[in-house]
Amino acid sequence: MTEENGILLDGEVAVRGDRIVYAGPSRPEGTWSPTKKLSGNGKAVLSGFVNCHSHAASLVFRSQSDDGAGGAALYTVAFRAEKDITPDQWRDLAVLGVIDMVKAGITTINDIWYEPEALAEACVQAGLRAQIAYKIFDVRLEELYRQDYTRYPKYGEERLKRGVALVENWHGQKGGLISGRIGPHATDTCSMGLHKEAVAEARRLKVGCHTHVAQSKGEVDYIASEHGKGPAEYLLDIGALDRNSVVAHLTFATQGDLDAVSRAGARNAHCATIYPRRGVYPDIPSIDSRGISWGLATDWMMNDPFEAMRNAMNALRLRQGTFEALSSKQALDRATAASAGVLGLDRDIGRLAAGYKADLIQIDIDQAHLAPFYADYASIAYYARASDVVTSVIDGKVVMEDRRVLGIDEADALAQVRRHLPGWAALMQKLGGTSHPGLCACGHQ
Ligand SMILES: [Zn+2]
Repeated sequence: MTEENGILLDGEVAVRGDRIVYAGPSRPEGTWSPTKKLSGNGKAVLSGFVNCHSHAASLVFRSQSDDGAGGAALYTVAFRAEKDITPDQWRDLAVLGVIDMVKAGITTINDIWYEPEALAEACVQAGLRAQIAYKIFDVRLEELYRQDYTRYPKYGEERLKRGVALVENWHGQKGGLISGRIGPHATDTCSMGLHKEAVAEARRLKVGCHTHVAQSKGEVDYIASEHGKGPAEYLLDIGALDRNSVVAHLTFATQGDLDAVSRAGARNAHCATIYPRRGVYPDIPSIDSRGISWGLATDWMMNDPFEAMRNAMNALRLRQGTFEALSSKQALDRATAASAGVLGLDRDIGRLAAGYKADLIQIDIDQAHLAPFYADYASIAYYARASDVVTSVIDGKVVMEDRRVLGIDEADALAQVRRHLPGWAALMQKLGGTSHPGLCACGHQ
């Protein structure tokens, strides 16, 4: 993703501490005296993927909202189930989500969810770079499916307090591996007062906000009826949008909303896998025509940047009626350097070049589905799979080798999650999810 060295055959990367000191053609034997050397034989080396909008622990909803109900399942299943997932369960889910992300080649996440402290600990354990926010709102999410927007100010204040404490305790920790954001959840789930307070706290703490904007029809309708404008226009008007804001989605944004995002210099996380699943897609040509910065993200349940690249390319090419809508190189850029830009980290991560943080991955290219490997952008963007990522180095540390995440025991993490399955299956069934009624007690069918 650098201007000068697009693709190099027989290249070499040298790392000192947490930074890349050299990335270029192989240097003569003896140039370096490494304490550790990773062979690149049969492997492609890439900058790690930057996931600018994620919910690591949300995998509990896998397959429960994907068919039939589409976007409505967010309100009818997920929002009604979240309150019944215990803190311990969110922790177990976060650990597994972190493993899944590292194994997919993701080296940085920007996450907003429950139990963010547990996620921060899991990220430290795995060595995953993360910006983390606590999910702040003052409605009862479980009541939204019937349009009940009753506000609970005390509840909102408590959440804001915990979100602020998270930033105070974690921002800049582990040499900057973990940073914080303030996370007013969405334009409709925070009252105007709470949203303004959250933004003021973010500015006081000198961190950005992370918010879902124009994500659903329900949100857009609510903001229109309350304020007579679009959700991003509303945020700009209350002073809640700026260059440090990450706005996820913009799926139902109007042209006026996009003007507001552009005027504020806010940045957009584009979650290409979830939109087609719901039968909708954001207006990328209008986002691009305003020069709004956007990067690829996985959102919830799916932690696969390869799938995100392919879905973005296929959806945009189909919608715009041209294969030129998003090239393989552009897709890779959106998943790495551009996504780093969304997080304000583009001087540190997202590129394989001297001076950048040593966040890089190796892909095993010696495989049937990648052969013959022509070593071009499409080889990776259209043919490689998350399961091809064999090595991950983050902040100069090897965090995965031979597909084994070194800091966390994957078998144990799977077992922890499996023991909760019967309870979750019953919960999902009650709410109209699609879990199989015949799950046995051990969690396997
Ligand atoms: Zn989301």
